Amino acid sequence: MSSGKKPPLIWVNVLLFLVSFMLAVIVAPWYGYEFGYSAEHWIWLGITYSFCNLSITAGYHRLWSHKTYEAHWSLRVLFAIGGAFALQNSAIHWSSDHRVHHKHVDNNDKDPYSAKRGFWYSHIGWMLRQYNQESYADYSNCRDLQKDKIVMWQHKHYLALVLATNIGIPLLLGVIYQDIIGMLLMVGIVRLVLSHHSTFFINSLAHIWGSQPYTDKNTARDNAVLAVFTFGEGYHNYHHIFENDYRNGIYWWQYDPTKWLIKSCAWLGLAHKLRVTPKVKIEKAKAKKVLTTATKNIKMLPNASQLNEALNAEFESFVSKLSDYYELKKQLVEAKKSDLAKKYEHSVLLIRYQQLKQELENQRRSWNSLVAQYV
Ligand SMILES: [Zn+2]
Ligand SMILES: [Zn+2]
Repeated sequence: MSSGKKPPLIWVNVLLFLVSFMLAVIVAPWYGYEFGYSAEHWIWLGITYSFCNLSITAGYHRLWSHKTYEAHWSLRVLFAIGGAFALQNSAIHWSSDHRVHHKHVDNNDKDPYSAKRGFWYSHIGWMLRQYNQESYADYSNCRDLQKDKIVMWQHKHYLALVLATNIGIPLLLGVIYQDIIGMLLMVGIVRLVLSHHSTFFINSLAHIWGSQPYTDKNTARDNAVLAVFTFGEGYHNYHHIFENDYRNGIYWWQYDPTKWLIKSCAWLGLAHKLRVTPKVKIEKAKAKKVLTTATKNIKMLPNASQLNEALNAEFESFVSKLSDYYELKKQLVEAKKSDLAKKYEHSVLLIRYQQLKQELENQRRSWNSLVAQYV
């Protein structure tokens, strides 16, 4: 509940976050100042940080929570280990929370990390007290994951995996490079704190700071700066409207290494059935958002109702042109693939397609110039 007495603290979490943070900001820099860190410390910090975060973004998030693709068992084992190394609870627990977050986004009583409860709560506060105690081990929204043997294996042996990775990996590197404390600090602590907070920023900052190109029905934002620290998860406005897409940054110039990793794995045969949102849906969502903003902005103008009519009419013709264009494009692709496609039919389609493409361009120009005055 959002009001009344606060539930009791979860001391394990409080101490874990507090102690690791203090070690990372005070002891690790002091140790570096006194004894120095070598290139190996920095390289392994980068490798393990990437391993943890990509296991969360490509594994916990896009694979398990949203089922945006299917992955080979070897990849799932890697993600399960990396997820435990990232210390963000088991994959099934994380996914269960995350599915509720999407279903009830911004609902202060249901969304486990509702951004409407403020930065602190959505960033870390939600994990410090027993807010969701009654539904803590309810995984009924993850029945599909309960069939994944690797997910259940990780859940069962979560603590052992946490200890083996968080202590074992830095210790091993410490022995190899003969600096156990240095590696425990950099690969153990600094990596953990960086990985924790960069992921937490998705729940906090990515619901506060940035643009809303696709929808303003929830608080999620697109933010290119955040995308850099979060391996592509900064395009959160897009993600909340099209959560089944394996991409978050859909344009080639948007920084989304998680998408590149999944695509590369597909080329290697380790990932398949990658799901993407049809372009027509994306374009329609964008136009709808522009319409909503323009409608709000013209409200106070004296000729608001006239403008409103004009805007809606232009929107309708743009959207219907979009549908026609993408429908024909689909037919063209299918005709090309099909052996039965006669050359003549194909060429007729092609001519119509080129016409329609031009018509859509004109329609788009007219729509853009109309709304440009009001958004
Ligand atoms: Zn979100
Ligand atoms: Zn999500």
